[in-house]
Amino acid sequence: AKSAGGNRFELADPEADARVITRHGLTTALPAALERGEFFIEYQPLVHLGDGSVRGAEALVRWLHPQHGVLGPDRFIPLAEHTGLIVPLGRWVLEQSVRQARLWRERYGEGGAAGPLRINVNLSPCQLTHPGLVQDTVDILERAGVAPDALCLEVTESALIGADDDLLKPLRRLAEMGVDIALDDFGTGYSNLANLRRLPVSVLKLDRSFTQSMQQFPADPVDLKIVEGIVALAHSLDLAVTVEGVETGAQAEQLRILGCDTAQGWYYARPGPPERLHELALVDATG
Ligand code: C2E
Ligand code: CA
Ligand code: CA
Ligand code: CA
Repeated sequence: AKSAGGNRFELADPEADARVITRHGLTTALPAALERGEFFIEYQPLVHLGDGSVRGAEALVRWLHPQHGVLGPDRFIPLAEHTGLIVPLGRWVLEQSVRQARLWRERYGEGGAAGPLRINVNLSPCQLTHPGLVQDTVDILERAGVAPDALCLEVTESALIGADDDLLKPLRRLAEMGVDIALDDFGTGYSNLANLRRLPVSVLKLDRSFTQSMQQFPADPVDLKIVEGIVALAHSLDLAVTVEGVETGAQAEQLRILGCDTAQGWYYARPGPPERLHELALVDATG
């Protein structure tokens, strides 16, 4: 079944070929992988669209699998969510990222007017419903000596659609402490825009599909109007707007003109090891 493509997840015999990655094989290997330290984090810079300075980074987890090499999060996060391993894995990502933020601060001080480099960490819906979320986050920040306002937790729009108060309570508590909450992949779900006021979010992360529609310069007038409208609404609600998936200078320029605040994408840097961010921020600091 290995060369059949298509449905090999279901067809593969675990013993037939070690190179075939089965869903089952990956799932059962996850807990030991966490114990053995096979996960690592890459950081992708968040850049201020107005002045081009690096303001922080998003933490993106990878798995260095002993047989299959580096696996992206789309390969294993859904499996970890299914088995519940996402809770300890997510906690590990948060702890590593916050410690990294501490190291950046030690290296660059408070970073002048822009403040210390901030760290964005993705939160799975399963972590949201886990009762330990708030206390774990408080403990991790305290242990690392990092202020809550250096942390931004990214939650997808779809995770919060129709969210009741029980689900929002931990996010509200974190927001009250000063942790930023970003609504990730914004524009892909069907959330009622007016509903935004109810959510304890301070950042909208526009989905990559909007950035892709800015490929041409000038972009499609309807797409421009939509993004313009979202930015106006976000700003009127005191939300910052981050755009992701920026791959070209034309996109960056278009999105800057539309009033977006922060950008992320290959145009600036691919996700990479933490030292890469050191270099980028250093270039930035010295002009
Ligand atoms: P996301 O949160 O939307 O992250 C952005 C994704 O876009 C990342 O994919 C990033 O590498 C990719 N990207 C960045 N710039 C560009 C660009 O210019 N062009 C294109 N085409 N892509 C770009 P990645 O690293 O494969 O992560 C995929 C998803 O996995 C993330 O989507 C996020 O939902 C999830 N994820 C990653 N790390 C974690 C984590 O620690 N915990 C949880 N729960 N989810 C995570
Ligand atoms: Ca994200
Ligand atoms: Ca996103
Ligand atoms: Ca995404």
